[in-house]
Amino acid sequence: MAPSSRPVSVEKAGPRTLRVAWSDGLKSDIDVVELRRRCPCAHCVDEFTRRPLLKPEDVSDTVRPVRVRSLGRYALSVDFSDGHSSSIFSWDLLRGLAP
Ligand SMILES: [Zn+2]
Repeated sequence: MAPSSRPVSVEKAGPRTLRVAWSDGLKSDIDVVELRRRCPCAHCVDEFTRRPLLKPEDVSDTVRPVRVRSLGRYALSVDFSDGHSSSIFSWDLLRGLAP
């Protein structure tokens, strides 16, 4: 991620797509189910070994974000419809998820 690149907006672009617009003009369409599977929180990834605790098949294809909040300059907070509400995604991670 270029140092000058930061998110300027996050919007729902479809039933399971979040679109992040970056200051350098790039737009990332992020699959929300993939996003849920990549949750880096202590419930989903072992804090010490970074080993994934969450299996992809544990996340239903029907999971959706119910609340999306920007945490300012460094991250996005997402509450998911499966009751998972501790997901914090750094902008770097989101940028890396973009195809
Ligand atoms: Zn998690």
